[in-house]
Formats: sequence, C-alpha cells, structure tokens
Amino acid sequence: MARISKRVEQLPPYLFVEISRKIAAKKAEGKQVITFGIGDPDIPTPDSVLKRLAETAYDAPNHRYPETEGLPEFRSEVAKWYKSRFDVTVDPATEIMSLIGAKEGIGHISLGLLDPGDIALEPDPAYPVYHVGTLFAGGESVKIPLSESTGWLPDFSKIPSDVAEKAKIIWLNYPNNPTGAVAPLSFFEEAVAFAKKYDIAILNDACYTEVYYDDYRPVSILEVPGAKDVSIEFHSLSKSYNMTGWRIGMAVGNQELIRALFLVKSNLDSGASQAIQHMGIAAMQLSDNEIQARNKQYQDRRDKVVETLQKIGLDVTPPKASLYVWAPVPKGHTSASFATAVLDDLDIVLTPGSSYGEFGEGYIRLSLTISDQDLDEGLRRLNTWTIPKGPG
Ligand SMILES: *Cc1c(COP(=O)(O)O)cnc(C)c1O
Repeated sequence: MARISKRVEQLPPYLFVEISRKIAAKKAEGKQVITFGIGDPDIPTPDSVLKRLAETAYDAPNHRYPETEGLPEFRSEVAKWYKSRFDVTVDPATEIMSLIGAKEGIGHISLGLLDPGDIALEPDPAYPVYHVGTLFAGGESVKIPLSESTGWLPDFSKIPSDVAEKAKIIWLNYPNNPTGAVAPLSFFEEAVAFAKKYDIAILNDACYTEVYYDDYRPVSILEVPGAKDVSIEFHSLSKSYNMTGWRIGMAVGNQELIRALFLVKSNLDSGASQAIQHMGIAAMQLSDNEIQARNKQYQDRRDKVVETLQKIGLDVTPPKASLYVWAPVPKGHTSASFATAVLDDLDIVLTPGSSYGEFGEGYIRLSLTISDQDLDEGLRRLNTWTIPKGPG
C-alpha cells in the first residue's frame, strides 16, 4: 500500500471532526440540531438561471469539452457585469477566465505563482483554502494578524520590510469570511501601493461583493487606478446567486496572473461545463431588484441574530456585507468552550473563530444560510439561555 504524501499529511487537522461527531450522536438520540455552521445558501437558485440550464442542456456543443478559459459569451458577460457593477473595464480575451467555483481557482493559482520556499502573505483569521494552496505549492506562509481594532483589515506598516521584500503574493478577502468585515476603497489603494512597492501580486477573494445590507455596496479592488498591474480578483456565483451546487465562478484582472492560472488549469482540468457557464450568464443578467430582494431576506435574518446575541450579552456589530455574523464570546470563554456549551445545552451548532486561525480565537461565527424556521427555533433557544461559566 502506498502511503499518503507529506503534502497531504501536513494539512491542518479538520476542526469540525469533534463537532460532527457530537452532531451525529445528538441526531441519533432524536434531537433537533440547528446549525448556523456552514455558509451554503438555503435559498434556491433563481428560476431564470435554472431555465437557462434546461434550454442549453439540449445544445450538442455543450456536451463536449469546454475551453479552459471559458466560453467567449461567458467572458463577455463578466466584462459587462464588471462595467455595470464597478465601472471597471476588463478585456474578455485576456483578463477573465471561468472557474469551476472560486475555490478551485483559489486553490490552483498558488501552483502557478509560487516556487518552493516562496512567501505567501495570508491573513489570519481566513478562509482556509489560501493556506492550503500555499502548502500544496511548497510555499512558505507568513500570517498577517487581523483584529477588531483595525476593522479586520491588515496593517501594512506592521509587515516587516524584509518579509515584504521576499513575499510573492498576498491574499485579501473583502467582504470577509469569517469576520463579515468590509474594505473601503482607500484600503484597497493602500494595498495596491504596498504591492507595487514590494512587487507582490494581490489575490483578492471577492466572493461576497453581491451579499450586502442597508445602503452599503462593496467595492472591487480593480476600481483603484493601476490595480490591474498587480491584482486579480476571484468571484463566485455560488454566494452571489445561490448556486453553490453548480460550481461556477471567475477570475478577473492582471493578464499575467490570469495566464499563470490558465497554465495550471489547462493541464489539470478542462474548464467549467458550458451549460453551467450559460447559467452563470443568466445569473449575471438578474435584475438589481432580484438581488436586493434576496439580500433583504438575509438582512432580516442578520437583524434577528444580532438582536438575540446582544440580548444575551454578546458585544456584536452587525455586518454590512457577507453571510456571517462574527461575535466575541463572553468573558471567561474560548471560541471552543462557547461553541461546545451552545451545542451541549441547546443543540445548536456555531463555528468557533479559532478554526479560521489563531487570531480568530475569542470569536464565533454564525452563518445566515439557514431556513427562517430553523433560525427562529435557534434564536428561541438562545433567548432563554443562561450562559454557563467558561473555563477561564
Ligand atoms: C464560499 C467561499 C468560496 C468558494 O466559493 P465557490 O465558488 O463555491 O467555490 C471562496 N472564498 C470564500 C471566502 C468563501 O466563503
């Protein structure tokens, strides 16, 4: 029997193992477990998008291998969407490629950019795939600690210049998972200036630009003049249009960075299914009203969750965007002790902030991708709960 590689063996432990075991045990006892854990929209894919799949499934050309870079129609729709949404001009021929979901592109791009030992700057807490990509490419991770005091934005002045000199890429993610933080354009301007000074590529994960609340509208890093010299952005149609199951997204920006991704992908996969790219086109053609109506549903959930958490004494700030409420745990608790208490006492699953990195310690994350019925039941349980004393 062959043994698994060191590359795979050194993956960080899967922190949900213990929680998954407890959930399974509770379910076996017949308990109704309410989960605020995973960010996977419960709201169905819009009808017009599903219809487009039905129409295009019968076109024989869609039964064959797609081109790695994506259909010309898909790429030109992305360019149109960038223009209308961000007033940014991108060239569909060289600055856009389709992805089999953003996660696929995020995981693959490090293989195209990092040589063994090259430094990747990774925020902490963060979506875990940035780190996995670095690990698989043999790169070296240098963590950038994020904290509430800087609005969960990196402080570039704290990155030592010898590290910055050696760094090849930096990951950003705004609106952010898990913190729900957003970045103003002035932050992206600073990021671009930092990247240009040290010759670092910016990889911005922009999966949540279409999930926003109140009057806030997330910006694209490509709105910064000259950003395209050093950056690309990853978009997911998963979170934007309730399409996690279909696997479609795109990378947009600097053409050499797009080419690096193309060279990896053309050798490992054969692109996103064409019928699903047609679904993506239909999704990007949805009206503003449809997006607003969907966001209003999440916003109502956000408001209810924030109200309950504040009522039980957690000092939480309502997020302006993303699918997540990120809350500090009560004094005396750790992320894990609080998540365990909620699970043991109330049969409710939350994600400990520490599972997104050491600087997520002291927080928990609640996802808003839960049915209204389950949400109300979960909040009813929390509302009447007396928080037990923590370990410290
Ligand atoms: C969900 C998520 C992704 C992955 O999106 P897919 O397009 O479904 O692969 C990427 N980044 C972040 C931060 C996410 O939360």
